[in-house]
Amino acid sequence: ATPTAVMVGTGVGASHGVLIKGGQALESSHKVNCVVFDKTGTLTAGKPTVVSTKLLTDMSLPDFYQLVAATEVNSEHPLAKAMVEHGKNHVQTQAWSEARDFESFTGHGVKATVHDKCILIGNKGLMQRFDIQIPRVASDYMDDAQRLGHTAVLVSVEGDAVGVIAVSDPVKLEASGVISILKKMGLKSLMVTGDSQLTANVVAKEVGIDTVMAEAKPEDKAQKIRELQREGFTVAMVGDGINDSPALAVADVGMAIGAGSDIAIEVANIVLMRSDLEGVVTAIDLSTKSFNRIR
Ligand code: ADP
Ligand code: MG
Repeated sequence: ATPTAVMVGTGVGASHGVLIKGGQALESSHKVNCVVFDKTGTLTAGKPTVVSTKLLTDMSLPDFYQLVAATEVNSEHPLAKAMVEHGKNHVQTQAWSEARDFESFTGHGVKATVHDKCILIGNKGLMQRFDIQIPRVASDYMDDAQRLGHTAVLVSVEGDAVGVIAVSDPVKLEASGVISILKKMGLKSLMVTGDSQLTANVVAKEVGIDTVMAEAKPEDKAQKIRELQREGFTVAMVGDGINDSPALAVADVGMAIGAGSDIAIEVANIVLMRSDLEGVVTAIDLSTKSFNRIR
């Protein structure tokens, strides 16, 4: 394409809320034949809310949510924000207890000491890591939540599982439409997520994606993209989180959700300023138009 075509292309992109960072990004986009989507915050709205709580001991809901919120207030994760918000419904005081030794385990959850007790909040992987037994009732409750497409999170105190929290994050309104347009354009769509296989499958089905990689760490997401590239695909990665940045960097075209984390936006070649997935189609369309002129 001529410099003018690139300028026009990026300009039109900008007017549609699609920030294309330079000619290379515009050029690569029309070669894309495979799009990898993150789940949380990318295919879903990224504003999760707590939908149910299952207590496993005689601990009261206010005591439970005091420990949960005191721990999660230290985390940036959207799930953490949902739990803290929900905690406010149960705990009168807005001043959470002090949490010491807060630690975050990527793709697994968090750990802290509150009221001199060791609190763990996260998925089964986190509990396995700390040798916490997961009672059958908890496991069943998690399965039920996940079959509804919810994310299920376990809470343990001093080594004992004390509760399960189910969090819902509905898919974006345009998600299934965009996936079906991409399919018509002949592109393959995949989903990669740190969430459980069960939850991932339900969300994927909802938006029309049939290839899913679940329980993926940031490096697994990047590895998946390299694998697709070795198979000959030109890959676009669409993501919003810090955990997506390695994959965004490795992809032929990295597309960040505008509402996403600073790191994702910085690493990406294209930023969907309106956080709208239609921007994926817009970017590919513009690239095709800009570069077909000189072929
Ligand atoms: P995603 O790819 O869906 O954004 P992440 O890799 O961020 O997922 O997280 C994967 C899983 O790790 C979550 O589904 C959750 O079970 C657990 N997790 C991550 N962060 C937290 C947290 N702050 N509190 C509780 N659980 C968490
Ligand atoms: Mg995400």
